[in-house]
Amino acid sequence: MQPLTEKTIRSAFVNASRSETKKLTLPENFATLDWENLEYLGWRDPKMPQRGYLVHSNAAGQTRALLLRSADGTRKRSSLAMCDMCRDVNIPCYVGVFSTRRAGQPGRDGDTLGTMICSNFECSTNVRIPPPKNAIYPDPMVVVAERIELLDERVNSFIGRV
Ligand SMILES: [Zn+2]
Repeated sequence: MQPLTEKTIRSAFVNASRSETKKLTLPENFATLDWENLEYLGWRDPKMPQRGYLVHSNAAGQTRALLLRSADGTRKRSSLAMCDMCRDVNIPCYVGVFSTRRAGQPGRDGDTLGTMICSNFECSTNVRIPPPKNAIYPDPMVVVAERIELLDERVNSFIGRV
């Protein structure tokens, strides 16, 4: 991802009100983020951990952000399941259930979409962990490159559905 400014992030939300985006708190490590190794920026609000944010820039240069609500509470960890974004990665990671208000009028009418995402939005890290070398995947880095591309596509298409 190209580094984004706070201003860009706050104005990129497709499903949050102005007051919600004003109230959001950036991730604590915002100044030192490793943008190059992120397909999307995701974090839980440090002050409202039940709120999560996901920011993505697509190939067309469009940056869009989502406000997500965690359904699993702040402390209780959900079970190990498969993340909808980094799906094919076989790495144990806690996955959270999130509900996403739809953009525009459907969202104002209460329509939401549910999704499961790595509880602390670790997808970009997960996809970079090389799989063990085996007969089917002789080059783990090729697998990593494919996963990176798929993660990017899934995030983009999920935002499109919202
Ligand atoms: Zn994930």
